[in-house]
Amino acid sequence: MKNIAVLGSTGSIGKNTLEVVRNLNRNGYPVSVKYISANSNVDLLFEQIEEFRPKAAVVFSDSGYKELSSRSLKHKCEILHGQAGINEIAVRDDFELVVNALVGFSGLIPTVEAIKNGKQIALANKESLVVAGELIYSMLDKSSSTLLPIDSEHSAILQCLQGEPLKEVTKLILTASGGPFREFSKNELDNVTVEQALNHPNWKMGNKITIDSATLMNKGFEIIEAKWLFNIEAESIEVLIHPQSVIHSMVEFSDSSVKAQLGVPDMKVPIQYALTYPGRVSSDFPKLEFKHLKNLTFEQPDFDKFECLKITYDVIKSGGSYPIVLNGANEAAVELFLNRKIRFTDIPALIKGALDKHENNTKPTLENIVEIDSWSKDFVRKESAKAA
Ligand code: NDP
Ligand code: MG
Repeated sequence: MKNIAVLGSTGSIGKNTLEVVRNLNRNGYPVSVKYISANSNVDLLFEQIEEFRPKAAVVFSDSGYKELSSRSLKHKCEILHGQAGINEIAVRDDFELVVNALVGFSGLIPTVEAIKNGKQIALANKESLVVAGELIYSMLDKSSSTLLPIDSEHSAILQCLQGEPLKEVTKLILTASGGPFREFSKNELDNVTVEQALNHPNWKMGNKITIDSATLMNKGFEIIEAKWLFNIEAESIEVLIHPQSVIHSMVEFSDSSVKAQLGVPDMKVPIQYALTYPGRVSSDFPKLEFKHLKNLTFEQPDFDKFECLKITYDVIKSGGSYPIVLNGANEAAVELFLNRKIRFTDIPALIKGALDKHENNTKPTLENIVEIDSWSKDFVRKESAKAA
């Protein structure tokens, strides 16, 4: 029996994870969900408690915590509150694996707590690695904890690397759908609406990552994520637009051979791989039908149009605390865009403004990371308020 905690169980990755758990239990690979968490979606959390009977559920928002605590549950389940609740379950020894499906900076401390407590981590929360990759890997070196990616591109690379000597890897090729604005001109991006940006052509995801996919900031984050996960320089990571999202990523080796991982775009596949790694368990998730595939196409990303991608390469070169600012400024700008306070093209402009004002800290501690994140968000909010 594998015992797990699912942080962010009410989100897109969280719900898919519970779907994977149902599949694994149907297929002779027993998984027990011991802990779940949400921010405020108490109705769904309540249903999940009734179905999975976890020992405890953590609610982050004050109102959500009060609301869930007042409900009568059919099964005994502790209701815990906020970061203190996460810290309280992190030290328990009745589960081995944490799925971190939290969104944004909120995922960092739970990743750190999981490492401190020697848990296996199935990581969807790429922002943890963007803001604290160096710190996380130095902690992992001294811990029995392990970290596996859920992100489809990184899962693809992990699958391509099985049985291969890492020193023979010459390039990682991260594929990207290009998002809803792949065919828009740079000028047209000025006036795109929130609805257009949320209309991703291939993937159904939470709002924040959907906007990150439309700006290609998501691909920028994935370069940083790959750099830490596979211990490879950013210069050896190439981004390739592949609108059909069938090839999830590729690895090139020194002998000029290239391996790719393919499949229907469905996050359940990489989530299940992270839970059953290095094994595989059968599923009835949709299978790729090659006979129905008309064409697979590839193109170079347009760095001039998708400035966030260009900014990322500059940030990686500068290193230190710049990625923290990249992430924090982006998170605040995406929230402002979703709340219709700024235009789509203000997102990279605000990020650049924050990066320009930042003084690098070459080896930030966890405390510094938290401070720099909050400085970046404040900066972006104040700048956008000034402009309004
Ligand atoms: P969602 O917005 O759908 O879900 C986020 C989850 O985190 C929800 O359970 C939400 O609770 C909870 N949450 C939100 N804010 C907070 C907070 N401040 N404190 C504690 N909990 C919070 O996000 P996704 O599932 O789309 O994404 C999760 C992570 O996975 C992100 O890092 C994303 O980049 C990554 N990812 C997602 C993919 C996808 O297909 N969705 C693909 C690859 C990576 P509530 O429901 O109550 O708001
Ligand atoms: Mg991805």
